[in-house]
Amino acid sequence: MNSSKERIVIKTYKGYLIDLDGTVYKGTERIPSAEAFIEKLQAQNIPFLFVTNNATKTAAEVRENLLNNFRIDVTEDHIYTSGMAALDYLIEKDMGKRVIVIGEDSLKTQVTQSGFEIVDEKPDFVLQALDREVTYKELEAACLAIQAGAGFIATNPDTNLPTEKGFVPGAGAITAFLKACTQREPIIIGKPYSVIMQGALHRMELDKADVLMVGDNYNTDILAGVHYGMDTLMVLTGFSQIADIIDKEDEEQPTYIVETLAEWEV
Ligand SMILES: [Mg+2]
Repeated sequence: MNSSKERIVIKTYKGYLIDLDGTVYKGTERIPSAEAFIEKLQAQNIPFLFVTNNATKTAAEVRENLLNNFRIDVTEDHIYTSGMAALDYLIEKDMGKRVIVIGEDSLKTQVTQSGFEIVDEKPDFVLQALDREVTYKELEAACLAIQAGAGFIATNPDTNLPTEKGFVPGAGAITAFLKACTQREPIIIGKPYSVIMQGALHRMELDKADVLMVGDNYNTDILAGVHYGMDTLMVLTGFSQIADIIDKEDEEQPTYIVETLAEWEV
């Protein structure tokens, strides 16, 4: 672990994978040091990709939010959600075309645009994300399909989401429901699992040794990098703090830690 005060530039990275919430903005709040960091990458033509576990939005919707609320002007090519990673994975693995989707409209749009057929029964696989209007009937159909041998893919493992109301159920809580009624383990796409990292690097066409994973959440962002064998930069503007990592083994520590992204030289 290198504290920011011990070094100016450790290594020059050819590209960056960057988390969104807690790293680039905080809920509805701006993080000006992060906005300046993105501008620096853009000015120097350094490739970067925002990697988010949130599968409830399309790349276009994420882009709009960044532009309208956070003064960050990027193209859709700069955005990679766990939903997009799931579809890349399903296409690569050729797991069939018929799918039951537990997920919101944005995800369903992406699923059909990617050439899959959304069905109510007898699917080749179940794709499960956060769905804030999910019904018992839909969960029942997913459960029966998985019991009958359909593939089981979950976009992201986040069990809770921070809101004004408190920590409400996330995609991972719905996954727990399906695991309980099927006794099957899903393939999980999002951070800290490696599928999303693999997909992101594939899109960037860069080697993992040349890319830095940047994020605020030790358990998702940093462990995603650690598991996938990448260098990581933990920024203390969001979820995790130094106290959260003090007891971790050396090989599970972030490569770098900064208070804000203003400290990082690209
Ligand atoms: Mg975050």
